[in-house]
Amino acid sequence: MTPTTKTTPRIALIAHDKKKDDMIRLAGEYLDFLKGCTLSATGTTGGRLANELGLSVERKHSGPVGGDLQIGALLVEGQIDCVIFLRDPMTPQPHEPDINALVRACDVHNIACATNVSTARLVLSRLSAASDKA
Ligand code: PGA
Repeated sequence: MTPTTKTTPRIALIAHDKKKDDMIRLAGEYLDFLKGCTLSATGTTGGRLANELGLSVERKHSGPVGGDLQIGALLVEGQIDCVIFLRDPMTPQPHEPDINALVRACDVHNIACATNVSTARLVLSRLSAASDKA
């Protein structure tokens, strides 16, 4: 997360199936801010953000077929400032290794990674306030 966002924030958005409605609600709360960001998302999450909220999103593959890894690759290349990753802790995921790899990459590269709605609100509020000042 860049402390001063004079450049456009680059945000990755991912939500597991049971968290997708939460993601749409969350993104709706920050819609004006997110419209000014460069957004990447896994396939289905990105599709919903585009179709239901009109956001312009670079859509990667769906998470279970490598989308999380694609987001991770962007992050490693320095192209992501923060990740909003609404994980479902109650449902086993076939791509658990990919999920762990993405979260690990966030830690390796010191990139903010919000894995629940409360943390995501803190991160988005901070970024949004910083971009208002810029
Ligand atoms: P999806 O992928 O947005 O394509 O559903 C998310 C995930 O399951 O990691």
